[in-house]
Amino acid sequence: MKHPFRDKTPSRRIDIPKRNNYQHYKDELRKDFNGRCGYCNDSEGLRNTFYEIDHFIPKTLLNINEYSNYENLVFACRYCNNSKRDKWPTNDRNKTNNGREGFIDPCSKEYDELFERNAVGEIIPKTDLGKWIYSELKLYLYRHSLLWQIDRIGKILKKFREYNLHQKDETKDLFIKMSCYFQDYVDLLREENAG
Ligand SMILES: [Zn+2]
Repeated sequence: MKHPFRDKTPSRRIDIPKRNNYQHYKDELRKDFNGRCGYCNDSEGLRNTFYEIDHFIPKTLLNINEYSNYENLVFACRYCNNSKRDKWPTNDRNKTNNGREGFIDPCSKEYDELFERNAVGEIIPKTDLGKWIYSELKLYLYRHSLLWQIDRIGKILKKFREYNLHQKDETKDLFIKMSCYFQDYVDLLREENAG
């Protein structure tokens, strides 16, 4: 069984007021990227480490006055941001990739087409470029499938909660127990990530 890489393609608003310091765009980026890393789609809510702002075209290829161009910023987890760094194989800022190496803006449908997920949520590259990005950004890390699974259980529990809220039978106790286990698990994961 396969799953799409992500449910939603992030989209940058075009009416964000211009700021001098790109760090001041964090709240807007968080919103536009649905609280998820543009590259691996891990939720910030589950990761609990500080998410960062990546320059899609790296700073080394930009003029200093372009650092705060909103259309070039990506909300990214520390793992992806650290792996990406200043990599830009084409060395041409107007050419994001050559079909085999390079990047695709995460705010595009094309990015969705690079990957899919297997039954347990592991990221599987679908194209040559997908393979290169997968390897460079370390999208094989276990944490990505783990966080995808937790996300999924959370969604199922939410649906179940909505359905079950007004029921008065033994499934309600079972549900409460299950929710508590899940919460304990997420809390434990948060502590581990914070440490
Ligand atoms: Zn990431």
